[in-house]
Amino acid sequence: NLSDKLQSAFKKLKGKGVLTEADINDAMREVKLALLEADVNFKVVKEFVNDVKEKCLGSEVLESLTPAQQIIKIVNQELVDLMGGTNSKLTYSPSGFTTIMMVGLQGTGKTTTCGKLANYLKQSGKKPMLCACDIYRPAAIDQLEVVGKSVNTPVFTKRDSREPAKIALEAKREAEKKGFDVLIVDTAGRLQIDEALMDELVDIKGTVKPHEILLVVDALTGQDAVNVAKGFNEKLGVDGIVMTKMDGDSRGGAALSAKKVTGKPIKFMGMGEKFDALEPFHPERMASRILGMGDMLSLIEKAEASFDQEKAEKLEKKLKKNQFTLEDFLDQMGQVKSMGGVGKILEMMPGMSPAQMKGVDLAESEKEFRQMEAIIQSMTREERQEPNLLNASRRKRIAAGCGQPVSKINNLIKRYEETKKMVKQFSNPKAMKRNKMFRG
Ligand code: GDP
Ligand code: MG
Repeated sequence: NLSDKLQSAFKKLKGKGVLTEADINDAMREVKLALLEADVNFKVVKEFVNDVKEKCLGSEVLESLTPAQQIIKIVNQELVDLMGGTNSKLTYSPSGFTTIMMVGLQGTGKTTTCGKLANYLKQSGKKPMLCACDIYRPAAIDQLEVVGKSVNTPVFTKRDSREPAKIALEAKREAEKKGFDVLIVDTAGRLQIDEALMDELVDIKGTVKPHEILLVVDALTGQDAVNVAKGFNEKLGVDGIVMTKMDGDSRGGAALSAKKVTGKPIKFMGMGEKFDALEPFHPERMASRILGMGDMLSLIEKAEASFDQEKAEKLEKKLKKNQFTLEDFLDQMGQVKSMGGVGKILEMMPGMSPAQMKGVDLAESEKEFRQMEAIIQSMTREERQEPNLLNASRRKRIAAGCGQPVSKINNLIKRYEETKKMVKQFSNPKAMKRNKMFRG
């Protein structure tokens, strides 16, 4: 799926560390294919990839120590921009009574979404009423009544009327009179956009003057959903989109293209058939979901925030003098801890599936950290600053002091040596470019 494909494109970058323009071009080709396969509109893909590429080729990215991460950050930001930008909150009438009109093709989920929306509004303290304007099938009115019952919301019906606009207007008056503050109007759908349907919807719109026209589209229909949305918007004018069936096996393309193609934001997404399965649409969350990053971005931000510039400079000086001590090593481990520990970091890593997480014994690795701390604390100050002093007899003494086998002490010293080498590479970009081992 889209997430897997994008992740694999980024994985290749991560394996490289120092990136060239060609690397970025390759990655962008993969991103492009992934988006096209996900059924994202062709023009949208082209523009998106060009924007990302342009930003990636900026010198800051190529010269950064973590170019792959910077690129992920750019892609993420562009995805957010692609899906967001304009107001995606519901508009309530300043007068206190709000009319919401639900429109869309048949079977997209209008009637179900009416119920979900009523449920959602009730939770935020509103008093909604529903109105049945799909007059073509008696079963449609029955359906809305069942829905209304499930979410404890009254439904206005007028079974003998053939004029949806009048029904809606009467419902509005009745709702206002009875002290409701939102009217949700369910309308008829067709299999495709036709003039008669549009005329009817325009008529309802002109009569009840809704504050919000929500277009319901089915994510499973991919680009068709987006084209339909465009058509509805051109003929009727809509304020926002509800993307339903996002719980299903959609390839994601509709959610990604809708805003760009129609100019209208997705305001909600349907995540199932139940009435609580409606979520406000958050471009940020959607983007991280698509990138399969878990909370990778907050991890990067956390790392940036907890990165202590002063300490880093001190460390660099020490390194120049070849003075990376065991105390500095302990400090580094402390930084990892301040970011929430190994467990937290692993959790936030991209591509860590729950199954893989199970394979990682978090308690075990936390324990290991604490043991290393204990070992270093059992050393004298002198030994911590001059690890070369740690001969066999000193190691034995330390082992006895912290109650661990000598092998653990040896292990720690080995890790210290490795870290020292690595930190040295990191603090010297030129060396890093020479040394492939520490790329990425
Ligand atoms: P309408 O013709 O537009 O009024 O569509 P309905 O509200 O009758 O819904 C059509 C079908 O889609 C029903 O079986 C709903 O249960 C289903 N449905 C609606 N929204 C969702 C959703 O978000 N997820 C899933 N899985 N099914 C949905
Ligand atoms: Mg319906």
